[in-house]
Amino acid sequence: EIFAPRKNAEGLPLWDNTTREPLIDDMRDVLQEGGFVAGPIVSGKLIARGEPYAITSPHDRQIEIGQCRNSDSDAVEAALDAAQAAAPDWDRRGGEERAAILEKAADLMEADRPAMMALLVREAGKTLENAQSDLREAVDHLRYAASQARENFGTPKRLPGPTGEENLLSLHRRGVFACISPWNFPLAIFSAQIGAALAAGNAVVAKPAEQTPLIAARAVRLIHEAGVPVDILHLLPGPGEVVGQALVKDARVNGVAFTGGTDTGIAINRDIAAREGPVVPLIAEMGGLNAMIVDSSALPEQVVDDVITSAFDSAGQRCSALRALFLQEEVADRILEMLTGAVRELSIGDPLDYSTDVGPVIDPQAKLALQAHKVRMRAEATEVLDLPLPDDLKSGTYVSPAIYEIGSLSELKAEVFGPILHVVRYPSDGLAAVCDQINASGFGLTLGLHSRVEQAAEYVAAHARVGNFYVNRNQIGAVVGAQPFGGEGLSGTGPKAGGPNYLERFATERVVTVNT
Ligand code: NAP
Repeated sequence: EIFAPRKNAEGLPLWDNTTREPLIDDMRDVLQEGGFVAGPIVSGKLIARGEPYAITSPHDRQIEIGQCRNSDSDAVEAALDAAQAAAPDWDRRGGEERAAILEKAADLMEADRPAMMALLVREAGKTLENAQSDLREAVDHLRYAASQARENFGTPKRLPGPTGEENLLSLHRRGVFACISPWNFPLAIFSAQIGAALAAGNAVVAKPAEQTPLIAARAVRLIHEAGVPVDILHLLPGPGEVVGQALVKDARVNGVAFTGGTDTGIAINRDIAAREGPVVPLIAEMGGLNAMIVDSSALPEQVVDDVITSAFDSAGQRCSALRALFLQEEVADRILEMLTGAVRELSIGDPLDYSTDVGPVIDPQAKLALQAHKVRMRAEATEVLDLPLPDDLKSGTYVSPAIYEIGSLSELKAEVFGPILHVVRYPSDGLAAVCDQINASGFGLTLGLHSRVEQAAEYVAAHARVGNFYVNRNQIGAVVGAQPFGGEGLSGTGPKAGGPNYLERFATERVVTVNT
C-alpha cells in the first residue's frame, strides 16, 4: 500500500424518505428565509458598491434566490494588496496548523448541508443526489488538502548527502493564487482549488463563475469561520473577461488555478505568458470530448446503465460526461434499442423532486447553444431520439436528452456540454482506429471501455491519451484520493485534483544546505 487509507465524506441515504423529507423541509426553510447575498468579500467585508442583480434558478427564472454585486477595480486592488501582505505569515504557520483549519472548514460545510444543498439545487440546478455529491466532494477535497499539507508541508525532509553536510528540502507558498472556477461544480471545484492553494501556504483571490456566486460566498464565510484569516482568502465575483482577466494579468498573482472551458484556459495561458516578470504556473482543468467504447463481449444491460449515467446524469453538464459512444457494429442495433428504451424512462423536471433524473441546464445561453447543436445534428446526422420536454418546464432552462448517430468523432468540433449523446459505429477490427480518432480530437479527459476481452483494455490503456480511463463501469464521479482527476492535451495541464501530486504545483521547493 502506497498511501494511507482515508475515509471519504458520507452522504445521507436520500433514497430513504424518512431521511430525505426532513432534509427537503430544511432546504425549503433555508430558501424561504432567503437573504442570500454575494459580492466582493475583501478582508472579510462584503462590499456593497455598485448595482445588485438577481440570481435566479435554472429550474424557474421567476425564482429569485439571492442577489450579487460584481467586483470593481478598487475591490480587486484591495484584495490583491491584502493577500500579498498576508501570505508570508500564513506560510510560516506551517502545514499542521493549516491542515487543522481546513479540516474545521470541511466540518462546517458538512454541518451546513441544508443551505449548501439548497443552493446547489436552486442556484446550480443540481438534482438532490448531485447536490449531495458536490457537497461531499468539496468536503473530501478540503480534508485531502489538509492531509497533504500535514504530510508534505510539515517538517522539512532530510535528503541524503555527503558526510559533513545537511540537506533539508521544504515546500513553501508561491504567494497569491488566483482560483478561477466554473459553475458546474460550484462548491466542489471551488473548494478543491482554494483548499489546495491554502494548504500549500498561499493567499487566495477566488473568482467564482457568474452563475453561482451565492454558494461561493457562503463557502468563503465558512472557511473564514474555520480560522483562515480574512486577509488570506478573498472572493471577487464578476465577469471572467473583466475580473478574471484582471487577476491573471496582475503581477501580484503568483499562480493561477483555473477550471473551465478549453478556449478560456488557452486565453488565460496567453494572458499569463504576456506578463512581465517571473514565469508563474497555470494549473488548467478544461473541457473534454469523452468517448466510451463498447465491443461485442460487453454485457448490454450494464452498458446501458453506465451510458445513461455517464451521458445524462447532471444533464450532461460534467466535464467527464460521455459525448461519443463507439459501438461495435455487431451489437450496435441491440444496444441502441435498449438505450433508447432506457432514455425514454428518464424523468426530466424539478431537481428538488427526488424522482427527477435530468434537471435543467445552467442558463439561457447554454440552452440556446444546445438547441443550435440539435438543429445542426438534425441536418447533418441521424436522429436516434430527441425526447419531448414536459410542458410545465417552460419557465426553466431545460433541454431534453437526445441521441444522434454520426460517422466519426471528428464531426464534433467542440465539447457539447449538455444531455446530448452521439453514437459512432465501428467494425470488429476497428479498435485501433477508434483510439486514433479519440487521440486525433486533441482532448484527453475521460474514456470508458466495456469489454470482457483483457487485451482490449490493455490496448486502450496503452494507446489512448486520456487522463482517466474507466473499464466496465460509468465514467463520471471520480472519488477524491481514489481516482485523482484531470486530463491532458486540450483537456488540461495536470496535476490531477484529488491526487497526491496536486498540492506541490501550488508550492515552490526550497533546499537548505548546511556545512556541519
Ligand atoms: P468557462 O466559461 O470557461 O468559465 C470558467 C471560469 O473562467 C468562470 O469563472 C469564468 O467567468 C472565467 N473566465 C472566463 N473568461 C475568462 C478570462 N478571459 N480570464 C479569466 N477568467 C475567465 O467555463 P464554464 O462554462 O464555467 O464551465 C464549463 C466548462 O468547464 C466545460 O468546458 C467543462 O468541461 C469544464 N470543466 C472542466 C473540468 C475538469 O476538471 N477538466 C471540471 C469542470 C468543468 P464567467 O463566469 O464570468 O464566465
